[in-house]
Amino acid sequence: KELTDLNILVDEYVRLAYHGFRAKDKSFNSGIETSFDANLIPLNIVPQDIGRVILNLTTNAFYAVTEKNKLNPENYNPIVMVETRQFENHIEISVKDNGVGIPKNVLNKIFQPFFTTKPTGQGTGLGLSLSYDIIKVHDGELIVETDEGEGAKFLIKIPTNKN
Ligand code: ADP
Ligand code: MG
Repeated sequence: KELTDLNILVDEYVRLAYHGFRAKDKSFNSGIETSFDANLIPLNIVPQDIGRVILNLTTNAFYAVTEKNKLNPENYNPIVMVETRQFENHIEISVKDNGVGIPKNVLNKIFQPFFTTKPTGQGTGLGLSLSYDIIKVHDGELIVETDEGEGAKFLIKIPTNKN
């Protein structure tokens, strides 16, 4: 573990995810909004692991807005929002998209290893299960909120008082 400025780490991996997605899909046109809390306390974490989580969540978000864009490209503004926030005893990192959202009958399976709704070759189904484990190792929580058809928000909470 290393004492890490999460704002810098999150920014770096959001860019990595964006350029990675863009390289595979030239028509990718999602907006990205970031909001970084200037009062964030440096955290003792495994930076590559938390980076991997950010990469997974943002890549999923980019995919979800791309899917929605295919349905109704005229009246749709794809947007992914990434935010960090300092609370009294924990940090929150949220990744929110206005993509296709997650149907109720799918929601209870998304953290299972190898569960994917993506076509063969496009998803391994390992991103969220791995992310869940990484956050658990950091004594944190990974929470999902979603409205089918409207989008999804993944919220990471990591305690700041366990260093
Ligand atoms: P993969 O991306 O390889 O499919 P993940 O573990 O990252 O595997 O995600 C599992 C499934 O959860 C996805 O196939 C998709 O059905 C759903 N999912 C994850 N993130 C989102 C999102 N932001 N919007 C809609 N569905 C999502
Ligand atoms: Mg994924």
